[in-house]
Amino acid sequence: SLSDRLTATFKSLRGKGRLSEADIDGTVREIRRALLDADVAVPVVREFAAHVKERALGLEVSQSLNPGQQVVKIVNDELVRILGGETRRLNLAKTPPTVIMLAGLQGAGKTTLAGKLAKWLKAQGHTPLLVACDLQRPNAVKQLQINGQRAGVPVYAPHPGVSSEFESATGDPVAVARDGVAEARAKLHDVVIVDTAGRLGVDEEMMRQAADIRAAVNPDEVLFVIDAMIGQDAVNTAQAFNDGVNFTGVVLSKLDGDARGGAALSVASITGKPVMFASTGETLDDFEVFHPDRMASRILDMGDILTLIEQAEKSWDKGEAERMAKKFADREDFTLEDFLAQMQQIKKMGSLKKMLTMMPGAQVSRQQLEQFDERQIDRIEAIVRSMTMHERLAPKIINGSRRARIAKGSGVHVSEVNQMLERFGEAQKMMKRMAAGGGMPGMPGAPG
Ligand code: GDP
Ligand code: MG
Repeated sequence: SLSDRLTATFKSLRGKGRLSEADIDGTVREIRRALLDADVAVPVVREFAAHVKERALGLEVSQSLNPGQQVVKIVNDELVRILGGETRRLNLAKTPPTVIMLAGLQGAGKTTLAGKLAKWLKAQGHTPLLVACDLQRPNAVKQLQINGQRAGVPVYAPHPGVSSEFESATGDPVAVARDGVAEARAKLHDVVIVDTAGRLGVDEEMMRQAADIRAAVNPDEVLFVIDAMIGQDAVNTAQAFNDGVNFTGVVLSKLDGDARGGAALSVASITGKPVMFASTGETLDDFEVFHPDRMASRILDMGDILTLIEQAEKSWDKGEAERMAKKFADREDFTLEDFLAQMQQIKKMGSLKKMLTMMPGAQVSRQQLEQFDERQIDRIEAIVRSMTMHERLAPKIINGSRRARIAKGSGVHVSEVNQMLERFGEAQKMMKRMAAGGGMPGMPGAPG
């Protein structure tokens, strides 16, 4: 892994006052290899490495960070910048309806995303309409209708034999798109999501159709959906869609698999378009707003790197660290077991709630006590209890199907499992930040 490789590099950098060109070359070489491992496209890796080297060479010597940390910080900053910097929000039309068009290869996850996006928007008080413009595959319309039903969002689709209010030309996706938007306007839907057809490979006819739909409905957003597992093909595919439909944002799908997110960097770097959402499973709730900083950490395995830096600095007992690591190769530093123990601690605190609030000089703030909900902790406990020990110690492995199993086992909805893992992720991030010494300015995840 990247962390393994960087361990040696950091060791050699430790104690140095500033970086020599040879130091930088060594580190950059490791970073280049790590990015290739994460399936970032070759030309993107090359450009990235050159840029990092340039910045590292011009580095001011920092008081608070050692040279190794400084290079990691540069790499992290660059990754975040390329991925779009701040999370980019959906561009909503001043005069509704906002039109969102989806584009991408067949199987990329467009139709699934359409349902997820619709559900997410509905939860925010929007009144979306889905429009089924994939008339290529016999089941595509049906698939969107099923997703719409699950999301509780209506679907506009051509009905053969049934004449609709707006003359819908069955078989012509451009007409369906146009009619769909007209329907949304007439029925006062404030967002329209236009699902389109894809092919297994980029082909001219499909691209022309997508471009025609774009021209017909003049979307506020064109989201390019790309399978995170696509690897080196990301460059050609992204370039073709960027040229063909000039998309405005990227959605990374199937991020629940083993993909390390390299495609995100490739697409964003090649097209300069921000990654806006991530799709992380087959159910409609497996959907996230994309956070460039989190993806940077995922690509670089930054959590591990920070731990390594810390270990190097404290000259940790190597034997002990190895013994711990052996127990579970992918064990994380702050695990769900720890999280559960923390929660139980808080729960205990909760039963003392009344007493504490009456006690002068209590260590617990009133706000902390008021936010506290015992039933929620019981639910978290039930969820963690439905996990295997491996999942508790290495929560990273908890993918979509594991989530579904855990939800079933603990009698909650998958969204609650997701919510809980999100909360855990935040806690984990906080613990890592604290472990990293808190005092490192500008390190990933640090506030400000
Ligand atoms: P489309 O051809 O672009 O519309 O792609 P679909 O939405 O039909 O998705 C293709 C397949 O990928 C389906 O079996 C989906 O269930 C699956 N899929 C879509 N998004 C995700 C995801 O985020 N994670 C996983 N694991 N599967 C997904
Ligand atoms: Mg589809």
